[in-house]
Amino acid sequence: MMTEPTASLQDTLGRALRDLRISVTDRCNFRCTYCMPKEVFGRDYAFLPHAEVLTFEEIARLAGVFISLGTRKLRLTGGEPLMRRDLETLIAMLAAQDGAADIALTTNGSFPLERVRSLKAAGLSRMTVSLDSLDDAVFKSMNDVDFPPEKVLAWIDESRAAGFDPVKVNMVVKRGLNEDSLLPMARHFNQPGTILRFIEFMDVGHTNGWRMDDVVSAKEILRRLQTEMPLEPLDANYRGEVAQRYRNSETGAEIGIVASVTQPFCGDCNRARISADGKLFTCLFAIGGTDFKALLRGGASDDDLRAAITGVWQKRVDRYSELRTAQTADLPKVEMSFIGG
Ligand code: SAM
Ligand code: SF4
Ligand code: SF4
Repeated sequence: MMTEPTASLQDTLGRALRDLRISVTDRCNFRCTYCMPKEVFGRDYAFLPHAEVLTFEEIARLAGVFISLGTRKLRLTGGEPLMRRDLETLIAMLAAQDGAADIALTTNGSFPLERVRSLKAAGLSRMTVSLDSLDDAVFKSMNDVDFPPEKVLAWIDESRAAGFDPVKVNMVVKRGLNEDSLLPMARHFNQPGTILRFIEFMDVGHTNGWRMDDVVSAKEILRRLQTEMPLEPLDANYRGEVAQRYRNSETGAEIGIVASVTQPFCGDCNRARISADGKLFTCLFAIGGTDFKALLRGGASDDDLRAAITGVWQKRVDRYSELRTAQTADLPKVEMSFIGG
């Protein structure tokens, strides 16, 4: 059914389309203060009605068209992707696509542990788990729903036991909140099998009250880690990898630092994003997206979808992080929980 991948699809800056992030829901059981603060995402918040969210069939069809255009990596995200009932069914549908891409999941790791095995059995290839601190009080204050770190640690252990290798662990570092958790986290994950990735706090959306002063820079993160760990830089695994990689030369543990704010990597950005309601965004910081739900529900053929994606990508000029200023941080961008990380 699918045509041969078109390796040559490039945007105006010569960047290929390799990576598709799919937000399967805008809902979440956490209220991380840097992502879905309770004051905004409270009881009255209007999440997308069910009918506005892409069905599994629509997502799988769209993913197939992206794969036919050269996309090699699919990442399921949200909101919290495990809030979407029966996510395993979608994973199996994606894994069955011709030219099947690598399928990754980013989750807060708060669901029953048996889900780890069922996700693996469905065809999930990579597991990324978010955990911002090992300290009970700090983690609970960040997820803002009183969720303890031990349960997320158990999800990470279960993921390793199920054969996800490595398991990536994402830690957003925010000044004055969890910067003292840096070293305890690095000590805890100081072994091969997990890759801890420190992420600079970003000005995604416009509800998290971002200020440059809240960013702990990649340089500072590295300096703090180096006070007790011998870290040597590693080459990128592939062009467009977002994390700077380091290896602890004593233990062999790998860590990553994602310097999206202080050392932007737009030049290699090969990622597109589909929001839960089917809009295509070509940048995490985009203000608007292209409505693919309308195309899917309006009877578009695969060729029509291919032409629409090609049209959007070939016009792409995004390099928000390279142009970031105090003014751009205030623009009405789309929320992280809507577009996915
Ligand atoms: N709910 C899932 C989770 O938390 O892993 C998936 C969605 S979440 C939006 C994806 C990733 O974005 C998480 O690792 C989260 O920590 C990160 N994130 C959210 N808001 C952020 C911000 N303002 N700056 C940097 N990273 C952020
Ligand atoms: Fe939910 Fe993930 Fe955002 Fe936290 S970072 S509120 S877990 S979507
Ligand atoms: Fe890619 Fe936009 Fe992030 Fe730059 S700012 S790396 S273009 S998502």
